[in-house]
Amino acid sequence: MKSSFKTIKSINNLILEILFPSSCLGCKVKGEILCSNCIIKINRTEKETAKNIIAVFQYHDLLIKKAIWDLKYHHHSSLGRRFGEILYEELLEDISDLKIYTAGSPIIVIPIPISKHKKHKRGYNQAQKIAKGFCEKGGKKIFLLKTNIVIKKIRTIPQARITNRSRRLKNIKGAFEIKNEEIVKGQTIIIIDDVTTTGGTINEVIKILKKAGAKKVLGFAIAH
Ligand SMILES: [Zn+2]
Repeated sequence: MKSSFKTIKSINNLILEILFPSSCLGCKVKGEILCSNCIIKINRTEKETAKNIIAVFQYHDLLIKKAIWDLKYHHHSSLGRRFGEILYEELLEDISDLKIYTAGSPIIVIPIPISKHKKHKRGYNQAQKIAKGFCEKGGKKIFLLKTNIVIKKIRTIPQARITNRSRRLKNIKGAFEIKNEEIVKGQTIIIIDDVTTTGGTINEVIKILKKAGAKKVLGFAIAH
């Protein structure tokens, strides 16, 4: 039943794609929401933007800024999936290193959760969309997407709105909690977020996962 529903859904997507082919946000070429020609031109970061946190693109690049804005505020959720694929392709080397580390067992992938209120307002968690595209690109043997482990328990002020570093850290401290702790024990985990600034949010999640017994935790983000 579930698979036939999925088939209908993918046929539906295919029809939509034929009727309204997506065009690139950067150059308007048809067929891809962010085409590879435009992706090549986006400014990269120095990768490890904070300890254990790797971001790919510079947030002040106009195309990236627009794409993330559309993903978060204009219901352009398909950008999340595309970002996930890009994240996988860009960080292939880092993923290979982690694969050696896990010696064949899958890496757990956890998107940074948003509050229930925000999820209701937006209709989805953008980091979860990115994580889904990322996991699908790598395949089931490599990644295990888990959305029921880290929960956002309190609403916080958006980190980007706070300029003071120590206030940012204070804002996010204690905002998350772990459910199903037994799943993370001894595991290698990748946390996924759209944008990381000082790394405060990802670090807070790394901290609680480590406390719950995770062996190695890395944070991957689209932009810094
Ligand atoms: Zn393009």
